[in-house]
Order: sequence, then structure tokens, then C-alpha cells
Amino acid sequence: MQIILFGSPGVGKGTQAKLLSEQFNIPHISTGDILRKAVQDRTELGIKAAEIMNRGELVPDDIMIGIIKDVLKSDRCKNGFILDGFPRTTVQAEALDRLFSELNLNDVILVHITADEEEIIKRLNGRRACKVCGSIFTLSEIEGLSECPKCGAKDSFYLRDDDKEDVIRKRLKIYETNTKPVLGYYEAKGKVVTIDGFGSIEEVNKDLTEVLKKKFVNN
Ligand code: AMP
Repeated sequence: MQIILFGSPGVGKGTQAKLLSEQFNIPHISTGDILRKAVQDRTELGIKAAEIMNRGELVPDDIMIGIIKDVLKSDRCKNGFILDGFPRTTVQAEALDRLFSELNLNDVILVHITADEEEIIKRLNGRRACKVCGSIFTLSEIEGLSECPKCGAKDSFYLRDDDKEDVIRKRLKIYETNTKPVLGYYEAKGKVVTIDGFGSIEEVNKDLTEVLKKKFVNN
């Protein structure tokens, strides 16, 4: 089961990927999470990526392709995976195709989650991350709390630099210009399914699981 969750920043890919990962028992591979961990650990990659990410720009393709190669070739991905945040350019999509051929994977599906731009800005600007464990919450989920519900860290909530409104608008623009063409790449191969991301987390998850069961379980 190889799934690419695709859609603009803030459409809910991360939330849905986490749910699907539990439901289908396959790992959730988020390139954004991998980069944020590198930034937190101050690795060479993290130091390079931090500024680029804070500006809402894309980390260079060769770096991202190197990361994804290592992850997808690892044992934990042997029964499938959910990709969240990759590919983000057609160069990445082409590299992923070559990697899939090398690994003999030919059953990939790209699920495009759609949502309205203003709704996305509202959602992203209204979410907070825990600076210790990286979990993301809506303001209403953490209202009145001083400890992170996931890891228990005290006073750890913050607004990610890349979730500030000016940076969000830039990320959305980059999505339109650099990332949206990836959709055409997969459409030409007949591998795209579209889901409306406007509903509640549960509603979107229901639509997603129905599509995936039809494709992978009932076959
Ligand atoms: P995300 O959490 O997926 O929104 O990613 C956060 C940030 O990490 C993005 O705004 C980019 O700066 C960087 N990033 C994540 N995935 C990629 C990718 N596939 N290509 C380039 N940059 C990426």
C-alpha cells in the first residue's frame, strides 16, 4: 500500500496521515516532520533547512530526494507507507518514480485533498505546535491548558514561524507554482483520487478510508 497524500499546506494531510497510519498499520512519512526533527537536533541538515523553512520556501530537491530514498528503502516501509509532503516538485515526482521502479513498487495512489484558501489561512494561523514533541493542536484543543496533552511539557505551545499569515501566503503561492504541477504528472498516469478536505476530521477520514479500502483491500 503506497499512498501519497497531496494538497496545499494546512489542508489536513498530517492529521489524516496519522489516522490512516494507525488504521492501516503502515508508517506515516512526513518530510516536514523529518526536517523539523533535524532542526531541533541541530544536525547539518537541520541548520541548512531551518532558515529556508522559516521563510516558507522549499528545501532543495537533491536534499529531499536523498532523505526520501533512505527512508523508503528502510525496513519499516517494506509493507507500504503514507507520504505526506513529498513529492512537492515535478523533479521530486520523477525521482520518486525511479525509486518506485527500483523497489518494484507499482501500486501507488495519490490522494488529492482539496480546500478553500481562506479556510486554510484561518486553520494554519489558528494552530499551535508543542516545541518539545512537535504535536499540532487547534486553539480550542488546548484552551486553558498549560501542559502539552501528548508529552506533558509545560508552557510549550507556540505558533510556528511558517504558520504566520505572511509566510502562509507565500507557502500557498509556492504550492500553486511549484507543487500543483505534480498533480498533472500523476493525473496523466491515471493515479489521482480527489477528496474534499472541507469537512470535519472524521468526515474526511471516512471518505479517505472508503477510497483506500476500495483500491487496496477489495481488489
Ligand atoms: P510541511 O510540514 O510538510 O508543511 O513542511 C514544512 C516545510 O518543510 C515546508 O514549508 C518546506 O520548507 C519544507 N519541506 C517539507 N517537505 C518538503 C519537500 N518535499 N520539498 C521541499 N521542502 C520541503
